Amino acid sequence: MSLRVQLWLVFLLPVAIMAGLYALGLSIPVPHLGRSYVITIDLPDANRNVDLPKIYGPQDRSRPLVIIDPGHGGKDPGASGVGVREKDLVLGLALALKDALIEQGGVRVALTREDDRFLVLPERPEIARLLDADLFISIHADSAGEISGISGASIYTLSSKASSEAAALFAERENNADRVNGVEIAGQSHIVSSILIELAQQRVQEESAEFAGLIVREGRGTLGFHPQARRSASLAVLRAPDVPAVLYESGYITNPADAARLTSLEGRRAFAEVMARAIRIYFARQTRE
Ligand code: ZN
Repeated sequence: MSLRVQLWLVFLLPVAIMAGLYALGLSIPVPHLGRSYVITIDLPDANRNVDLPKIYGPQDRSRPLVIIDPGHGGKDPGASGVGVREKDLVLGLALALKDALIEQGGVRVALTREDDRFLVLPERPEIARLLDADLFISIHADSAGEISGISGASIYTLSSKASSEAAALFAERENNADRVNGVEIAGQSHIVSSILIELAQQRVQEESAEFAGLIVREGRGTLGFHPQARRSASLAVLRAPDVPAVLYESGYITNPADAARLTSLEGRRAFAEVMARAIRIYFARQTRE
């Protein structure tokens, strides 16, 4: 038998058997295909589809988009002190900022969470990336353990070492991406796209630093800064290589005065006004360039 005939037999034999059975009025039981037949497998969190949040404000996509990220949530309460949990305190600040930004107009706003839900860390910057955000602000509150005397707000940006590492990782992962931070990388060689991503990352870090500086400038006298207000660290939540990002530590939850201020209506409003103003100035500078 030639190879061709053998191959045909391999394909045709099952069909012939099925046809024969059918002709004889017999049937072979087959699995019922329907929803009950769908098997669901819980994938690890990193592969989970990110639920994209609602975007508030003008639906004009040319308007800048700010992502506000209230830290922690759900089963992760964050720091706690003086009867306050960080996850609740920062959600209050985030919602106040959202309201101030919508009232002020001109920008689009989305929150990574609007209620008490748990998000894994990498989901947060990923939401900013997927929505093609222009600015990302993660809001937290510090804890000094038993030491209630320590107080004050501080602003973190990604350290340059962490920033470089993030760029390298991103280049590795996103080599097939078309654009990063407005830079065309499609069709470029691996080395060229890595360099372009590194440059884009540097620019994003400059913009993040500029925004952090504006928060300090606008918030002086209102936000109650820690003596060392500007810091940098290797924070996973800031590793969105193409979105300028800061992490705002609003104060010490373990300090009664800070905790009372940050959970009061006036305190939240004062924070929201300053932050909204810093955001407005930041975008005004961006569009002038
Ligand atoms: Zn925190």
